[in-house]
Order: sequence, then C-alpha cells, then structure tokens
Amino acid sequence: PLVYLNGEFLPLEQARVSVLDRGFLFGDGVYEVIPVYGGQPLRLEEHLTRLDGSLRGIRMTSPLSRAEWAEVVGRLIDGPDDQSVYLQVTRGAGPARDHAIPAGVTPTVFAMGSPIAPVPLAGVRAITLDDIRWRWCNIKAITLLPNVLLRQEAADKGCAEAVLVRDGRVTEGTASNVFAVIEGVIVTPPKGPELLPGITRDLVLELVQAEGLPARERAIPLDEFAGAEEIWITSSTREVLPVVELDGRPVGRGSPGRVWERVSALYQDFKRRLKSGVMA
Ligand code: PLP
Repeated sequence: PLVYLNGEFLPLEQARVSVLDRGFLFGDGVYEVIPVYGGQPLRLEEHLTRLDGSLRGIRMTSPLSRAEWAEVVGRLIDGPDDQSVYLQVTRGAGPARDHAIPAGVTPTVFAMGSPIAPVPLAGVRAITLDDIRWRWCNIKAITLLPNVLLRQEAADKGCAEAVLVRDGRVTEGTASNVFAVIEGVIVTPPKGPELLPGITRDLVLELVQAEGLPARERAIPLDEFAGAEEIWITSSTREVLPVVELDGRPVGRGSPGRVWERVSALYQDFKRRLKSGVMA
C-alpha cells in the first residue's frame, strides 16, 4: 500500500523528509486519526474541522482543501476491513534549527493507512497518573513525549491505558477520552484546554442522548471516578472500551458493565449503518 507525502502517493520506503523538518526537530506539527469501516471514513468532516482547529492553534492553516483531504483519505483506504487513516501536517523544514518560526516555510503533509486491531471486549486494566502534559491539550499536537512516557508506565504495570489527573480531576487517557457511570449517570469531563475534543467522545454522547440514557458533561474528581460503577475509554481505534480494573482494584464487579453493553451495542449499530451506506 502507498503512503501520501507532499502531493505524491509512493511506497512507504520511498517516503523521505528533511532532518531539518520542524516536526522532527521540535515536534512542531499536528495530526489526525480517522477510523474507516467498510471503506467509509467515520465523521470525516468532524475530523477535518478538528484538524483545522489544531492548525489554527499552532498558527497554521490547512495546506489542503476539504476536497483534497477527502481525496487523500479515499485513496489510502485499502479494502473493506476496519482501518484508520493517519494525517500529519508539520510546519516543514526551515533553513536552520531555530525555535522561532521562519517566514515562508512549506508545510510537510504526510498520510498513511493502517489496520485497526480488534478491541478486547473483556475490557482492560488502567492506572491513574499525574497529568504532566502542557495546558493546550485540545490541540492534537504530534509532540507526544508525555503521552508516550505515561503510556509506557501503564504498560509496565500490565495496563492498557493511563487515566490522567490534573488538580484532583480526571482529564482523559494518554490516547483516549474517559467516561464513567456514577450513580447511574454517564459522565465525561467537559471540553476545554485540558483534553482533546474526541470525535468518538462526541459520538458516544450523541448516541446515548438519542437513546434517552442519562448523560452529563461535568468535572470528575478522582475519588468519585475511583468509585464509579463503570469506566470506559473512547477513541477512534479503541471505540468504547470498558476499564475493568483501576489501580489494581476492580471497577464495579470487575467485568464490563450493563450500561457499557448498551452503549457498545449502539456504537456497533452505528458502525453497521455507516458500512451499509445508510448514513453519510
Ligand atoms: N485524547 C487523546 C489525548 C488522544 O490522543 C485521542 C485519540 O487518539 C483521544 C482523546 C480520542 O479522540 P478520538 O475519539 O477523536 O480518536
């Protein structure tokens, strides 16, 4: 399968960027991950709108039009199996290594497709960790060193995700948003600079609200979170994934909860409708 780099489709091994690229030197860039089911991208417009927002957040504008992005995504889709398309825009290569942004740099645009691994329906373990990231977490920046180190800390403990805590409140996972069921109500932290506005998060909220399930966006103190009946993480590649153990203690009865079963069914139904072309 080919990858996209700066206007061309070429084999991965032939894709090359400058070592002066500011993405390489500074992590100066942003990205998107778009899930694709049955050849249909999920919420492409929303992903591209978020990409525009991330670019604006780092003083850039999109180097491609919506139609051009849609064309790139379409050409990277490889067969009907579940997959994702990764889009990355870095500021490009300057004449030398300089923190300040040089005038007239040409952005580097890269995109590739990847298979999506099946999600573990039995649920996963997670730990909570101090959210050591910067304060513009609403920008989907490629600068992911804190996320990498925090995720590895979770992996070292046999956990699939670290749920991050800032000022005593849960923000999100290293690569996911978080939901909890507390006293029968589905809760997730409100959008803001402390977390990424997840496309899956928004979709899950939409699906549960349409179903009439009680749901609220509100801050979740860690002690409440730790005592929740259910915890889920959501992301484009992990869908709605139950957390069955938090910091070594069972969540609820230590198995995927009843509310998750309903919400997961709604999500799978949404995917089926997307695949069969019943929705845009
Ligand atoms: N939060 C962070 C930090 C992420 O990296 C991601 C996605 O990987 C998410 C949340 C979930 O966002 P989405 O549902 O749009 O994939």
